[in-house]
Amino acid sequence: MELWQQMLRQSIDSADDLVKRFNFDKETAERLNSLFHIRINPYYLNLIRYPGDPIWLQSIPDARELEEDGLPEDPLNEDGDSPVPSITHRYPDRVLFLVTSQCSMYCRFCTRKRKVSDSSKISMRYIQDGLDYIKAHPEVRDVIVSGGDPLMLTDFMLEKVLKGLREIPHVEIIRVHTKMPVVLPQRITPELCEMIKKYHPVYISTHFNHPWEATPEAKKACEMLADAGCPVGNQMVLMKGVNDDAEVVKELNRKLLMMRVKPYYIYQADMVKSTNHFRTPIRVGLEIMDKLRGHTSGLAVPYFVIDAPGGGGKIPILPQYVLYHDDEKIVLRNYKYEVFEYEEVKEDPKSVPLDADSKFLRKSPVVIRERKRRISKPKTRNNIRAKVKVEKPAEE
Ligand code: SF4
Repeated sequence: MELWQQMLRQSIDSADDLVKRFNFDKETAERLNSLFHIRINPYYLNLIRYPGDPIWLQSIPDARELEEDGLPEDPLNEDGDSPVPSITHRYPDRVLFLVTSQCSMYCRFCTRKRKVSDSSKISMRYIQDGLDYIKAHPEVRDVIVSGGDPLMLTDFMLEKVLKGLREIPHVEIIRVHTKMPVVLPQRITPELCEMIKKYHPVYISTHFNHPWEATPEAKKACEMLADAGCPVGNQMVLMKGVNDDAEVVKELNRKLLMMRVKPYYIYQADMVKSTNHFRTPIRVGLEIMDKLRGHTSGLAVPYFVIDAPGGGGKIPILPQYVLYHDDEKIVLRNYKYEVFEYEEVKEDPKSVPLDADSKFLRKSPVVIRERKRRISKPKTRNNIRAKVKVEKPAEE
């Protein structure tokens, strides 16, 4: 048995463990465990510095999970776009391929907690159906291998998946979504890296949420993957009490770059049942982005996205940099809140095709409704100009 498998065996993974280690009352511990399975492996457990710290919040169950919050179990409607149990096919040229229900740590904020840890819903027995579906759909050129955590499979089983995908001629890119470099970096072994190398291009997406997770062990794991030729990106979920602070995110992103991991996304927390206590106002994410762009290397600035409820996909949102735009110029503010004008290129209006944005804005019922609402107070050039005088928000 490999070291990571031995460590997994020593995980806290029952209501009784929760009672013994963290003084939970038995009934609450049992309800929490049946709501979403408990598993905290010894490596991640050792990162906790004090009760309620950012590592604790992500891994130790919280009685607030039991509150009725009215949020859905499947807010992104993944199941609605699922032609076979292991596949979600939402975007034209890519699919999500679920290969295991297991993880080495069950994150309390997990978006897919309705399925994760439940082998009746995600299972290796559905892998072949997934491969068959992808083979039958030549438009699929990008496959995201996920779960659960695909690196919970043994090297042998994972190789079956990667080999199966590589045998499909139209699959160009394989992405493996794994939290192992963060929660159990011992899983990244030389043998695993040698095996993955055979199936390039393989991209790795991982999931660091706090600088304390960027340990020497995690650094070594990410470097091994990078040395094996895998570009590694990070997807951070914005969470109250964990990373809802620009300095924390800046420190995390700098550390990630030193580990050869590119910060890729910051996600607004999904509206998932029993995770409401993690959600932050959207303002918080925008403020963090405002304090990253220009203040640190552009490489350390990810996209801030909302995964649209109901299955609309990821939508990027940005602080307001464009203050005004017409046929003559665009007025912008920079990261220091200084205002600049850039002269627009003159075009013959008749020769300009309507871009997708304008077409959408003309037809959108929401925009038309808003226009009607504002019609009693038309904007003049002066009051548009007045808006240009932006004030830099006070430093906290
Ligand atoms: S590792 Fe991923 S799939 Fe597993 S519990 Fe955490 S967020 Fe969910």
